[in-house]
Amino acid sequence: METYFYCQHCDHKITIEQLALLSEGKCPECHTIEGFSTVPKDENDSFENVTVLNDTEFLE
Ligand SMILES: [Zn+2]
Repeated sequence: METYFYCQHCDHKITIEQLALLSEGKCPECHTIEGFSTVPKDENDSFENVTVLNDTEFLE
């Protein structure tokens, strides 16, 4: 099973081997240095939405 990393700017998917070869951690797709996560950007966004639903508004 392969571990993938996702650019936090453009969601470009790379392997851990590609991550190790990146120059200065720059995304090969969009050339930003926002970094990579094992969680896709889209899933981070939906997780934040779930957290917001637990706010006081939810109790009213
Ligand atoms: Zn990118």
